[in-house]
Amino acid sequence: MLAWLVREVASEERECGSCTLCCKLLHIPEFDAPAGIWCSQCDVKKGCKIHGNHPKQCKDFKCLWLLDVGLDIHRPDKSKMVMKFVKAHQDGVTQLQIYCNDGYPDAWKIPYVKAMIDKLTDSGGRTIIIYGDKRTAIGSRKVMKEIDGRILNEG
Ligand code: SF4
Ligand code: SF4
Repeated sequence: MLAWLVREVASEERECGSCTLCCKLLHIPEFDAPAGIWCSQCDVKKGCKIHGNHPKQCKDFKCLWLLDVGLDIHRPDKSKMVMKFVKAHQDGVTQLQIYCNDGYPDAWKIPYVKAMIDKLTDSGGRTIIIYGDKRTAIGSRKVMKEIDGRILNEG
């Protein structure tokens, strides 16, 4: 992970609370739940109906907000987007993936996220903004030329 981000993830004191947005916006293979559809196990705005027995993928997942990126008011259900970093398996580039909720394609266009995208681009990373079936990539020319459908569909 990039050094400038590591400093921001030192504390893990946040809790999901009534946010369940990743249970909709991320793909959960165990329940055959495609991205953009609520997982069948989700009690929306309350939590997971099978908490404790939920898949490892869910247990391991921490969005950037949970890792202390952004302010309290930016919790995903309020900011209408879920963010995570991945290492693109094709070219090893650090990739910020931003999943925007239905009706909020521009949720990512807030100052702290735009600043993070700029910093990531300058550091040789890449950002993928995901809204429904649409994918928008942001990055330097060098990292953009490696992009194909596989990277865009990751996560
Ligand atoms: S999007 Fe983040 S804060 Fe919301 S439920 Fe998922 S991990 Fe928790
Ligand atoms: S199994 Fe539970 S934690 Fe995992 S996506 Fe479904 S509702 Fe969310």
